[in-house]
Amino acid sequence: MTIRPLLLQAAQLAADYVDELPTKKLRPEASVEELRDRLGGPLPSAGIPDGQVLSELVDNASDGLLHTASSRFFGWVIGGTLPAALAADMLTSSWDQNAGAHDCSPASAVIEEICGSWLKELFALPSDASFAFVSGCQMAHVTALAAARHRLYSRLDWDVGKKGLIGAPMIRVLSSANHHETFARALRLLGMGTDCIEIVAGDSEGGIDASALQEAFQRHSDSQTILCLQAGDLNTGHFDDFDALCDIAHEHKAWVHVDGAFGLWAQLSPAHTHLLRGIEKADSWATDGHKWLNVPYDSGYVFVRDSDAHRASMTMDASYVEDSLDRGVRNQFDWGPQWSRRARAIPTYAAIRALGREGISEMIARACAMTTLLVDTLGELENVEVIARPQINQGLVRFLDSEGNHDRRTDEVINAIVAEGTAWFGGVTHRGMRVMRISVCNHRTQESDITQTVDAVSRILSALPGEA
Ligand SMILES: *Cc1c(COP(=O)(O)O)cnc(C)c1O
Repeated sequence: MTIRPLLLQAAQLAADYVDELPTKKLRPEASVEELRDRLGGPLPSAGIPDGQVLSELVDNASDGLLHTASSRFFGWVIGGTLPAALAADMLTSSWDQNAGAHDCSPASAVIEEICGSWLKELFALPSDASFAFVSGCQMAHVTALAAARHRLYSRLDWDVGKKGLIGAPMIRVLSSANHHETFARALRLLGMGTDCIEIVAGDSEGGIDASALQEAFQRHSDSQTILCLQAGDLNTGHFDDFDALCDIAHEHKAWVHVDGAFGLWAQLSPAHTHLLRGIEKADSWATDGHKWLNVPYDSGYVFVRDSDAHRASMTMDASYVEDSLDRGVRNQFDWGPQWSRRARAIPTYAAIRALGREGISEMIARACAMTTLLVDTLGELENVEVIARPQINQGLVRFLDSEGNHDRRTDEVINAIVAEGTAWFGGVTHRGMRVMRISVCNHRTQESDITQTVDAVSRILSALPGEA
């Protein structure tokens, strides 16, 4: 039987889902038990028709989805999907290319080369930096820090690829207290451990303080150091002062790594470019496509100034693949931690082709404007306090309680908003208080979504008992 009806069925189901997103309640409706019941059961001994697999999947899984692609999803830092990127992602699965080596898929390799240089241009990073397409910012950190580890140990005459880390001197890692947990996990995965992290005191906004950084370098003038800077802190979207901090770090020959999972994209919004001043001075940069570029998941990017260290830390000798350098082609496995993998640059290519620089700029600037509008209009409601007005696309508010128990009230209101289903927000503890996080990363979010959301929150606040 031909596969055509099945693929068309999948396309129909996908289109139905995306079409219905605007009217869906955002939270999952099914309980965990229901999902386990419906989707599980004994291991099937006999198969069923392909079409039935799809329709059952939709019937049984749909109401266990959290509708993060909705224009009123404001939790964590989660993007939606641009139409061209989503469709290209479906095509990528059909092509089923192995994007590990050039010879496995010349087109995929060339698309990565092109996207690598387009992205460097978009982010205003050095044009000769090397790059890799990885699964997300987590693996971007691992890849960048593997390059850093290689370079810093080679200065100590220690070939870390050969000798490993047992018996090796410790490399110091300086960071602010609000580094993302994926950064610490990258250090764990690389065998460097988290004991090497030294927290540098922050400025009033939680970024690294320049004189505290100077002192940290003076305290250990003899050790090799990695400094992690933040382009867009998780809660407030705060940016470190790259210009000044990179200069200090480089006086001490440190490697500067930037976590710019979503913040690097602010480079594209003219009103926010100044926040990234000096970012090109760093040594490695990690970011995501699946957040703010709105491509489907499995899309992170890493860029490394020291391309020799980058390649040396990742390259593989595979006698069954022709060496790439002599032939002027690029084997992706020389630059990232995977061999066989999805041709994950294709949706990025589609997104950049569909929007162009101007369209991406517009998308980023709009998300920033929508975040500010959402935070400010929520702030106008009674008993809502703005804790962080957005610098880019992240803001924080909390809900005040007549009896002073603002933490309890804030969690109660967040739960009620999630249960009501018009929008979705999460809570976090920020500087010792419970707050509601607000993040806008979706290209579809527009003013009507903000109005709809604020109206819903307002209704919920007046309906909840205990309002002052
Ligand atoms: C999301 C995020 C990460 C981790 O990225 P993944 O794509 O989930 O691996 C790292 N740092 C920051 C600041 C983030 O927001």
